Amino acid sequence: MSFIRQVVKTSCRAVIPRRMFMTCGPSPGRLPGGRRGCHEVALTFDDGPDPDITPKLLDLLEKWQISATFFVIGEKVVRHRDIVHRIASAGHGLGNHSYTHSEPHKTSTRQFLDEVRKTRDLLEDIGNQPCKLVRPPKGKLTVGKQVGLWKQGMSIALWNIDPRDYQMQSQQQAVDWGASYHPRGGDIVLLHDNHPWAAHIVRVLANNNDQAGCARYVRLSEWVQR
Ligand SMILES: [Zn+2]
Repeated sequence: MSFIRQVVKTSCRAVIPRRMFMTCGPSPGRLPGGRRGCHEVALTFDDGPDPDITPKLLDLLEKWQISATFFVIGEKVVRHRDIVHRIASAGHGLGNHSYTHSEPHKTSTRQFLDEVRKTRDLLEDIGNQPCKLVRPPKGKLTVGKQVGLWKQGMSIALWNIDPRDYQMQSQQQAVDWGASYHPRGGDIVLLHDNHPWAAHIVRVLANNNDQAGCARYVRLSEWVQR
């Protein structure tokens, strides 16, 4: 990420409420109950649902009792409504990742906002509840798109931890990243369920947490109002 984008993200985080724009969650010091040494971390999965990978990932999350948030692409939702149903009924969060995942710089503000509205209608129909979380493709927004999303009442959710799983070439790379990652309270981890590596990362994080850690994996929606 460029220095300028980092500055913009940091500035937004400082002045805009989390329900409108979030790049991370509350820090441990602000967690209710003051649970010391215990961190709330949000795992997020973008670019699905995938008919092969997403169900296996859901099995894994269920086994370890981990909650997560899935930012799904509308045109894939149409093809795999059953998987989206399963995500929602398992208690995971659903977020909007546009309808076609079109290249941000080739997508007009009107087209982008139309895609978000169309995907939101789909998700609200399936989940039977409001779906206000949105993550723009590649995390890229213009001022016009950002304001347009707020006019739709959307909460923009980016991330602060990016293992770049979409660039990984082997299971070992995923395992190594998982072993080197030490969760901090409020981390939003960007993963992808259209690539196979996220599951290996989740397995390592869950194992580490089981043995020594104290991370509680939460849905992003839990942080929106805090
Ligand atoms: Zn994406």
